[in-house]
Amino acid sequence: MIGIVGGGVSGLFLGHELVRSGMDVTIWEATGRLGGVVSSEDCGGLVLERGPQRMRLTSQVKKLIEEVGLQEEVILGPNHLPLLVYSRGKLRKVPLTLNQFFTTDLLPLPSKLRVLAEILTAGTKRDETVGSFLRRKFGVVAYESFLGPLYGGLYGSDPDRMLVKSVLAERLKEAGIGRSIVWDLWGRIGRGSDVPPCSFKKGLGALPDALGRKLGNRIRLESPVIFAQQGLRGYDSGWCVVAEDGTDSLTRTNVEAVVLACPAEQAAKIIRGVRNIRVAGTETLMRDLNYNELAVCHMKSEANLQGLGYQVGFGEGLETRGVTFNHSLFGRDGLYTAFLGGMKNPSLVGLPDETIASIATSEFQQVTGFKAFSLEVSRTKIPAWDLSWKGYRKDQLPEGLFVCSNFSGRPGLQGRIQEAQALSKKLRDYLLRSH
Ligand SMILES: Cc1cc2nc3c(=O)[nH]c(=O)nc-3n(C[C@H](O)[C@H](O)[C@H](O)COP(=O)(O)OP(=O)(O)OC[C@H]3O[C@@H](n4cnc5c(N)ncnc54)[C@H](O)[C@@H]3O)c2cc1C
Repeated sequence: MIGIVGGGVSGLFLGHELVRSGMDVTIWEATGRLGGVVSSEDCGGLVLERGPQRMRLTSQVKKLIEEVGLQEEVILGPNHLPLLVYSRGKLRKVPLTLNQFFTTDLLPLPSKLRVLAEILTAGTKRDETVGSFLRRKFGVVAYESFLGPLYGGLYGSDPDRMLVKSVLAERLKEAGIGRSIVWDLWGRIGRGSDVPPCSFKKGLGALPDALGRKLGNRIRLESPVIFAQQGLRGYDSGWCVVAEDGTDSLTRTNVEAVVLACPAEQAAKIIRGVRNIRVAGTETLMRDLNYNELAVCHMKSEANLQGLGYQVGFGEGLETRGVTFNHSLFGRDGLYTAFLGGMKNPSLVGLPDETIASIATSEFQQVTGFKAFSLEVSRTKIPAWDLSWKGYRKDQLPEGLFVCSNFSGRPGLQGRIQEAQALSKKLRDYLLRSH
């Protein structure tokens, strides 16, 4: 039996993979609902997404949707919606094709030539930040007007506090990109993405709900894991998971391996008592990993804007980091979702809801020219993948202890599926070896 701590998508994807491969699992979830940061709410017929806004319908996502029986619930977004950026006081299209690159008003001619000169620049350097890497490769104007906001926006982070080796180096390698990004992308530019954005009629929350139904009584809700102990079964690989069960008593469950699929701070607490030299260092590193806090403001507007949404260029003097156009993405009438705060202004999430709503709606009007009113303000967190990741390595753990979480691998839902699939194979081998 494998014990999984956390019923967010990482824990659920992994549980599903393990059961599919014939292994048994128990999943402990601290709260009364599954999905973690994936949270969809019906607000008078409009689906509000408090966390992720969309997935891409890759072959892996398609297969998972079929396995959990959600085919009829899928909604697809248009394939080639433009991505926008608010730069020099105006919304402009981010160039995604060669033609768009040469005709865009986002960059003046000298900055376009500077982007092309990337071919002559060196590859990644040791201990370089993403910010200095992007500026060195593409120039300051391209960095500040769209590359920095787009990359930082994925994590709510500041690229000047993210290390290339933690977040970008492996991705470039996976994409087969060597010294020059422009050179390697040249052949692909213009083709765009043929993988459409997707969601479900009731929002992305339909996916954890469907996984929960499949996994059935293998899931224990409202059961926060307090700690895990190693070696209780007389050999190093056995673990005991100790959890609350809603009563005054604690439950103890013996498992062959434990997977931490919860946020870093909770993961560190759970392994704090494990007497193992490898855990001591990892626990401290995990505890110190930063998360960015974001405020999410759902807004309704008469605006009929077409696009995926916009990011705000650096130096525009706005608190809004980006806005998703749920209206044109999935036909959610008049719905726009603004993200504020993050690493650029972490204290913003502490402001009252009404203040956040007023900032979000007035900045939306400044950018788009359209009035909006706030439907809801919520708050969430995302791993910052900043300098605090410098010494962290997920393989520094004792026998039988694993991590599968958005602080240990790519945070996007597609990345969560991939990490769950890779770990499922590793766990199968691990069980074969330890039996
Ligand atoms: C605002 C935002 C926007 C995003 N946008 C996108 C997007 O558009 N597209 C995309 O692909 N990805 C997006 N992502 C990324 C993606 O949604 C997340 O990385 C992913 O959902 C994280 O899943 P997780 O299971 O690793 O973590 P979490 O969702 O944090 O789940 C962890 C779970 O562990 C539980 N837990 C904690 N402590 C304990 C304990 N002691 N015992 C038991 N359970 C415990 C928690 O209650 C929680 O349910 C976004 C993320 C955020 C925050």
